[in-house]
Amino acid sequence: MSEEFLDHCGISTLGVRAGVHQTAELENSDPLFLTSSFCFESAAHAAAVFAGEATGNVYSRFTNPTVRVFEERLAALEKGEACIATASGMSAILTVMLCLLEAGDHVVSSRSIFGTTTGLLQSLEKFNIHTTFVELTDLGAWARAITPRTRLLFLETPSNPLTEIADIAALAALAHAHPQCLLVVDNCFCTPALQRPLTLGADLVIHSATKYLDGQGRCVGGAIVTSADRVREKFFPFLRAAGPCMSPFNAWVFLKGLETLTLRMRAHCESAGRIAAWLCAQPAVEKVYFPGLKSHPQHALACRQQSGFGGIVSFEVRGGRSAAWQVIDRTRLFSITGNLGDARSIITHPASTTHGRLSGDVKAEMGIGDALMRLSVGLEEVDDLMLDLEQAMAGL
Ligand SMILES: *Cc1c(COP(=O)(O)O)cnc(C)c1O
Repeated sequence: MSEEFLDHCGISTLGVRAGVHQTAELENSDPLFLTSSFCFESAAHAAAVFAGEATGNVYSRFTNPTVRVFEERLAALEKGEACIATASGMSAILTVMLCLLEAGDHVVSSRSIFGTTTGLLQSLEKFNIHTTFVELTDLGAWARAITPRTRLLFLETPSNPLTEIADIAALAALAHAHPQCLLVVDNCFCTPALQRPLTLGADLVIHSATKYLDGQGRCVGGAIVTSADRVREKFFPFLRAAGPCMSPFNAWVFLKGLETLTLRMRAHCESAGRIAAWLCAQPAVEKVYFPGLKSHPQHALACRQQSGFGGIVSFEVRGGRSAAWQVIDRTRLFSITGNLGDARSIITHPASTTHGRLSGDVKAEMGIGDALMRLSVGLEEVDDLMLDLEQAMAGL
């Protein structure tokens, strides 16, 4: 497939076709190169590849053909120049931090990010790298937090679990008004099927491929999409030396996931929209958080910035923690797990699990109450999911 032709193709076509490198066997599905090392034609060839005078695979910690197809396909989907795959979403975030920050540098981050990312940023304090956490939707707070040493602005949008939306273009403009300051967007919740932050001015996109890119809850992996220079000069040498590379097997699974990404995201969005609207009409439900609702504070921004509202819906019921736990325990179709972005619908109680380590004060400040539940709406029949929630909420 010629790259020029693909440049003009839509996102579904890129998910199926981008990065394809057919071998001499003329296979029609991406091959899995499950090999740790690669051979050389001769001693002289080995010497040339090791010296960097000839290109070629050496060892799968450096490069692997299956991982490369995943990188090229995800870069095409995100409209980025280059991608580098990592062992997990967290190792993608760690790679960005360690490669782009120096002792004395400063990060401004949204307060509403994945809990482990908060912990990772805090652990950089011992290297004299400090983070200021701000309210995701308060542009003034971001601006006030920036110092001459700020190198990164970091966010997720929609946020987890309250689905607040950040204005990516406005935050990119803010970052670029300061020398050497870059915007990093963790695009895990939307995926490139719904939102492409690089086209809105972001400098780096991070993925936990574990979630919607896989889409069927099988493998752990991550990726960074950004400029080819940054991948080649900063991230590739770090990954090669530090070792958090993506397994070729996982890359192959993620490739199969990318082929159905737009189809799945459309279905997740549609079912989540129907469940959110239905929840609003239930007497036991006090509040529903979903960017597709007209009552959502950033609904207009979500309409502008995203091509769908995502598959995550959060809601609060009357009756506090005991009511929420009752709903969770009574559901039959929802899996009780902290993961998201699976074909199987998932129900989570953030206050006691994903956000359980935060102090009561911090949870209250963030709006994560005891009656809050997060749904990752899967690919089951939406009527079955609503029926299940209805019987689980009976008697509240
Ligand atoms: C899960 C998640 C991560 C971490 O990814 P892993 O693949 O579990 O390491 C980072 N960011 C967000 C938004 C996530 O949901």
